[in-house]
Amino acid sequence: MNNDLLKVSIRQKAIYISSKDILGNNKILNETTSALVANASKLGFAFSEELLAALNNVSLKSKLEILEVLKEITGVNKNWTPLVKEWNIPTGETVLDHIITLFGNIFQTNKGVTLNCGHIIPDGTFPLERYNGCPFCGTPFKFGELEYNGKGSKLKVLELWSNNNIANFYTDLLRSKTALDATQVESLKALLSTYPLPKNVEIGIKETLMLVIDVLVENDRSNEGQVLFKNPNDILRYLWYRHTGFLQIIEPKTIMNRAAKNAAHIFTPASQSGIAKLQSKADLKLKYSRSECKRVAIWLNELELAPEKSCEIMHPKRGMWVRFIRALRLAEYGKRKGYENLNKMLDIFYNEDYDVWQGQINHFRLKSDADSTFKLLKQRPGLFARSLFSNMLWFGEDVTLKHFSEIIDKVPARLVFTLSMYAQSYFDKNTSRNVKPLGGTNKRVPANKFLQLYEEDQLKGMKSKIEDLCINMMKQRFAKIENKNKTIYIDEGLFNIPMSIGDRSDTVQDLPSALLGTRFPLEGSTIRLFLQWGEGLDAQHLDMDLSCKVAYEDNVDYCSYSQLVISGCKHSGDIQHIPNKVGTAEYIDINVEKLELCGAKYVSFTCNAYTHGSLTPNLVVGWMDSKYPMSISKKTGVAYDPSCAQHQVRITQTLNKGLVFGVLDIEKRDIVWLEMSFGGQIVQNLSVKTVEALLIKLNSKLNIGNILMLKAEAQGLEVISETDNADESYDLNWAMNTAVVTQLLID
Ligand SMILES: [Zn+2]
Repeated sequence: MNNDLLKVSIRQKAIYISSKDILGNNKILNETTSALVANASKLGFAFSEELLAALNNVSLKSKLEILEVLKEITGVNKNWTPLVKEWNIPTGETVLDHIITLFGNIFQTNKGVTLNCGHIIPDGTFPLERYNGCPFCGTPFKFGELEYNGKGSKLKVLELWSNNNIANFYTDLLRSKTALDATQVESLKALLSTYPLPKNVEIGIKETLMLVIDVLVENDRSNEGQVLFKNPNDILRYLWYRHTGFLQIIEPKTIMNRAAKNAAHIFTPASQSGIAKLQSKADLKLKYSRSECKRVAIWLNELELAPEKSCEIMHPKRGMWVRFIRALRLAEYGKRKGYENLNKMLDIFYNEDYDVWQGQINHFRLKSDADSTFKLLKQRPGLFARSLFSNMLWFGEDVTLKHFSEIIDKVPARLVFTLSMYAQSYFDKNTSRNVKPLGGTNKRVPANKFLQLYEEDQLKGMKSKIEDLCINMMKQRFAKIENKNKTIYIDEGLFNIPMSIGDRSDTVQDLPSALLGTRFPLEGSTIRLFLQWGEGLDAQHLDMDLSCKVAYEDNVDYCSYSQLVISGCKHSGDIQHIPNKVGTAEYIDINVEKLELCGAKYVSFTCNAYTHGSLTPNLVVGWMDSKYPMSISKKTGVAYDPSCAQHQVRITQTLNKGLVFGVLDIEKRDIVWLEMSFGGQIVQNLSVKTVEALLIKLNSKLNIGNILMLKAEAQGLEVISETDNADESYDLNWAMNTAVVTQLLID
């Protein structure tokens, strides 16, 4: 069995069993299958009938491999011991305890217990029998076993995936019309390294292309990548991805500023901000081996595009190109025989012997020459789309939209969609927009100053005109496709899930994945948040924090390292140093009924990094929920039970500092899975408004359900309420494969 493919399928709520692994057709369940079922259920998984029949006929070795993968995903081999034993009962530690201990250690009073970390805990301060480590510096010493006993009330049912399923999923990912999220990227990489690139599959977007080329290069198949490059910026994008891990070209200064901000420690004496800035600068230094230089030289030389056109495309990233050309010693290659195209291109590039399109645009725009500006813009539909709003404010909406509608056919649907989503906030004088620059945290951007020149009604008109434009475009594109079906079923849940265009998830979901915006109805009345980090790392100061924010009508309460107990929430204690290799954990229990009695509205789940640098790659965060009481070990405080884990994510990106990973809606009794990163270190930076703005964004009109309604209307399909009788059926399971959902965006 291929473990990587197993993981890919489990994320899609299935187990992939290759037909060659199914050895017989035995109908009676054998003992080892029953044992696998029992063990999987402790981990929170159940098997569909079809899958069970297949599992019954695979080898014992395969069964063990499947169990091992399930164990790995649920993290049962990690250390889950928190700082405090029985942390549901407050230890009664006070700020005074910390102060007395601080003085005791400075003046070496020696009246107390000396711990392994060297700290003296003065008598009469912390109740040491309640801790698994040092309450003063947060270093754990004792580790408990995980006593998982399957208290979960809702098993995740896995289906069977055949060779066909996995092949289709592979093509879906390649054809995705929006950028893949981190989970999809991991899955695609696994598939690419196992299988050859399928023939006749048009790769949906540039970002996916980069991943594909990367895997080809790693496997010494870089020549196969040549046909995939359309212009020099594709190559630049690839080089940039190799260098920084970012799929889009983020200017170096954004990355540097970001690294500096993350390293700004909460206590200034410890700040290493400057050092991090230098470090990051060094990281961006380019260095290439002979073979790498040659590979890129060949790629550029073999481009089909005319050298003048290439140079024009290279111009907006001129600064970066100059650095890359030098680092890759391309001039040297240009002089060699066989590299004539490259030579010509470099010549034109250095002499700036090409038209600069943007310069001409700016020239005509400043002269308010609408005709010439639009004539140029229409040559580049994509760029026209991106500057549509500012041109509407500059030249007026009617003339701009008239010209735009002439070329809208050439604009990718996802771009028109994005426009329609952003129009809502762009044309609003008062609200600043919540945007997430690539590689950055969510930011509030002030409104365009030209908005002040317009009346409210005019701006409202602009918004609805853009929306109409988008809806008409979608309808026309749907109508063009012949559909012989008569009826359609659309699950109600799909009306809550936005089309994933702008906000793609940076975290990896190893448990069956969910779409941003998915609502999980509560099972029980206690929600337990968990955070596990540091597995595989050496013992060191590595302070990660789990916290939550309770929003009341007119005030906010925080449960975090500094306030372990607040009304309705209890924290398991602040761990600041990780032990060697096994990692460590923090928990928060949220008592939903108590919070409701107190009048709380929302609880947002957050995690932060308090150490220099960014969230570590080995961090898993999530929540548990069960109808049955979830236990906490009396001896050790271990409180993780994989069968109760409702949702968990693994953080792989290093840029994000703090993360909101869920919002509990107390009145509706459900948890919304969302993901919003935030800068700064203190959870207070996260205003109630920001969270509510995000929830509103999830309720966008352009949700999957509404788009399917457009399709139904344009293709004359009758919407019916039962999935069984429908010719076309769209449910939440279908939507789990986001790449398939993006196929609704017809170009
Ligand atoms: Zn200590």
